[in-house]
Amino acid sequence: YKNNIIRNKSNLLLQEKNNELIIAKEKAEKASQARADFLSTVSHELRTPLNAINGITHLLLEENPKTSQLHYLSSLKFSGNYLTTFINEILEINKIESNKVEVENINFNLKHLLEGIQNSLIEVATKNNNNFTLVIDSNIPDNLMGDPTKLSQIFMNLMNNALKFTKNGNVTTITKLLSLQNENAILSFEIIDTGIGIHADKLETVFESFSQGSIEINRKYGGTGLGLTIVKKLINILGGQIKLESTIGKGSKFSFELQFKVNDHHLAIEEKIHI
Ligand code: ADP
Repeated sequence: YKNNIIRNKSNLLLQEKNNELIIAKEKAEKASQARADFLSTVSHELRTPLNAINGITHLLLEENPKTSQLHYLSSLKFSGNYLTTFINEILEINKIESNKVEVENINFNLKHLLEGIQNSLIEVATKNNNNFTLVIDSNIPDNLMGDPTKLSQIFMNLMNNALKFTKNGNVTTITKLLSLQNENAILSFEIIDTGIGIHADKLETVFESFSQGSIEINRKYGGTGLGLTIVKKLINILGGQIKLESTIGKGSKFSFELQFKVNDHHLAIEEKIHI
């Protein structure tokens, strides 16, 4: 009888503890939701006037400004672009952290996607006098199923960084087919540069929000310190993990693997067309 009372008491205590934990968890979730909503509202509110500032700057720049005005307008354009990127990145992180990001599963051609990104970054490559090479494994099927928008965001960020932190060097993106079984393709991606490199004790922290190599690097190269945070989170959402190897003064290699379905329906249609 005594044992029963003790057991009941300890059960009650456990239940109370459990209830307390549930309440604390609900409170934390509410607080986190409130924070996410606040960030989202503020960012959207900032975006509207910023669009006006950017638009008017663009118009004034087109009206053949005097040399002295050109200087101020260029500076305004730079700041406007920086703020726009910053706000968009905050919104993106906020969306990911509140699990509002959906993964697309549509047919896409990896070669075309990568070539499109390479073309859009030619200007940065030329400015820094870099060789900018794409190596695409010819065994990769043309008809992958996946999320091309997220993939583009990932490659844009990684290639742009590689080109930004490299001068008179090489930036190479290597894509390999690791395996192809039962309509499942596993691919590896490497973005390799011969740029300034990242210090050994920063290899983990560069993926944290607002983290940058150093104050000097930030002063020299600019940037928000949010790009790699987004890249890491997006790769995780797609089922992969980012790896970073780097040596100061020699360069960096960002790599990850992802699995894709091969669209056999698409293949069947293609075969019919060939017949
Ligand atoms: P940022 O907008 O500052 O570039 P990121 O999150 O993209 O933000 O990168 C964080 C920091 O990681 C950068 O400020 C830079 O110090 C370092 N970094 C990122 N990519 C490279 C690279 N390819 N080579 C050298 N340093 C890099």
